[in-house]
Amino acid sequence: MDLDTLLSDLNDAQRRAVCLEGGRALVLAGAGSGKTRVLTRRAAYLIRFTGLSPFALLAVTFTNKAAGEMRGRISELLGIATSGMWVGTFHGIAHRLLRQHAEQAGLPEGFQILDADDQLRLVKRVLRARGTDENRLPPRQVRGFIAARKEEGVRPEAVVTEGHRYQQELLEIYRDYEESCRRGGLVDFAELLLRADELLAGDEGLLAHYRRRFQHILVDELQDTNAMQYRWLTRLIGEGTGLFAVGDDDQSIYGWRGARVENMDRLCRELAPVEIVRLEQNYRSTATILQAANHLIAHNDKRLGKNLWTSGDQGEPITLYRAFNEVDEARWVIDRINDWIEEEGYQAGDFAILYRSNAQSRAFEEALIAHRLPYRVYGGVRFFERAEVKDALAYLRLVMTRHDDASFERAVVTPPRGVGAKTLDAIRTAARAQNTSLWSAAQQLVAHKQLAARARNAVHAFLELIDDLEQRVAGEPLQHQAEHAISSTGLRHHYERDESRLENLDELVSAARSFAHEGSRAGGAEAHETEPLLDFLTHAALEAGEGQAADWGASVQLMSLHAAKGLEFPVVFLTGLEEGLFPHYLSADDPVRLEEERRLCYVGMTRARTRLCLTCAEVRRIHGRDQEARPSRFLGELPLETLDEVRPSIRIRLR
Ligand code: ATP
Ligand code: MG
Repeated sequence: MDLDTLLSDLNDAQRRAVCLEGGRALVLAGAGSGKTRVLTRRAAYLIRFTGLSPFALLAVTFTNKAAGEMRGRISELLGIATSGMWVGTFHGIAHRLLRQHAEQAGLPEGFQILDADDQLRLVKRVLRARGTDENRLPPRQVRGFIAARKEEGVRPEAVVTEGHRYQQELLEIYRDYEESCRRGGLVDFAELLLRADELLAGDEGLLAHYRRRFQHILVDELQDTNAMQYRWLTRLIGEGTGLFAVGDDDQSIYGWRGARVENMDRLCRELAPVEIVRLEQNYRSTATILQAANHLIAHNDKRLGKNLWTSGDQGEPITLYRAFNEVDEARWVIDRINDWIEEEGYQAGDFAILYRSNAQSRAFEEALIAHRLPYRVYGGVRFFERAEVKDALAYLRLVMTRHDDASFERAVVTPPRGVGAKTLDAIRTAARAQNTSLWSAAQQLVAHKQLAARARNAVHAFLELIDDLEQRVAGEPLQHQAEHAISSTGLRHHYERDESRLENLDELVSAARSFAHEGSRAGGAEAHETEPLLDFLTHAALEAGEGQAADWGASVQLMSLHAAKGLEFPVVFLTGLEEGLFPHYLSADDPVRLEEERRLCYVGMTRARTRLCLTCAEVRRIHGRDQEARPSRFLGELPLETLDEVRPSIRIRLR
């Protein structure tokens, strides 16, 4: 490939960026201006036209998906295999370093990675071993504490506690946790980066080796790097290392997870001279969408300031639909998708449904299933597969069938109630020996006093809890049954500090209520013959397994706004634009967090290429109750002339 071909579909500013002579550059530019495209071209340019070896380049992107795409693009542009190249996420690259130098890093050869779930389980084991009450020190909080320390690069020895007892205790747990990881050869996500950084910091020879090796470092989405990522990255940059970073301060949306948008400024200061390149032409969205997004983000105070324009079509106005409630919202969205597939030749894969909170996906999932539209939920677990939802369902299943062993296993330990691994093992062994269910085995062990007193009491209490739950829910409406399964079992309390899990539990109550209504509306003798609870559980089980299209490209894409970063879609539905939901109520009163919410809205709008639809509901079921909702302030911050409000004709309320 010659240079002209490589640069042919780039504008002047983009070309200059790709061909920069200088060693260090920061491309600071708005959404859809071609940052990621330029970054990829830059990689190809360096390899093809400056003689850089493909293995002397390190490229860091935010998601595995983006990394895969970049590798594919480079290989396509240059016609070379890119499998051995260092292109990946921060975690992925740190992991690779640690694998290659496990011994120096103090890790066993076959060290294992702990995902967030495994990590929580390990924290619980540590707490149990110390005899710490999980209600007093919730494992999630402990996990958060540990992750935050690691992201600051602080090991237990270096934690400053000011002698506070509570802090002292957390610190000891952190130490125990590290010890468990060490014994088991386990590494959590935050540890990957910290350990890789320590590895380089502690070995001058190795650092020099990698500084020589990585002659050029490229970074996408710089605005969302946290302190540890920044530290690690800059450590690798030696005197002669080239750097090409791209980012957009207006799209910094991970402040709540420790990302520091100041890293952009800091990088320019600490690695000076850094040439700043601005790209101002947007190639993604219609003029209307861009105008609205620019207008919205202008409401933020602390901005580096950018001027984004497009030579593209004016395009359609942005559609705004005010739904009666979330069911109507989902119906309207799915109707549009169906219409546009039929009338305008769109494919299912052209549509993205974006939301602020993962719990919102359920109404859409149900409508999509009802219309037999293939869909995919990105970066999140489908509603009925979410751990906390499965926990609640496990109780209901036990109420229906005591011999459901999987539900028994799940419910007996969530929330923790003193039934330990040893007791559970004894129950399993007895069940196996007598060829009965765990439930029956547990009953017998209790009746024949074959367990130590404490374990026996705990198991006995659990058996009673389920019997008691059955009494409570008998004859109750479905949504009350669900509520009992969440409240009287201690689940709600257990997840008390985790806002998103609580939202999902409440959403389950809402789902039960809607299901009950639809069941009775569907009428007929059939609907009343079986237990509504059984119907509901069947519905949940089927939904958990079905509807997942094999081919992502051919399905409607559902994802949170956070997961949509960097992506683009022909048609975007940005849903749930209501005060309290978006901006989220926890952020509404804090000016800094409110600005982050606004950036999130900006990110969502700028994902759209040709059509953008915004929706809000007048009433939304939150915490299992219908709540009047005011339209989001962000709607009021859009220029009126870009909006086309569709008013629903008078219809019968859906419930
Ligand atoms: P974001 O901020 O959302 O990450 P970005 O700045 O990384 O956006 P890209 O995703 O690289 O932008 O580009 C946006 C879209 O515009 C892509 O579809 C890309 O292929 C297209 N594009 C970029 N530059 C040009 C150009 N010069 N001519 C035509 N299309 C372009
Ligand atoms: Mg990008």
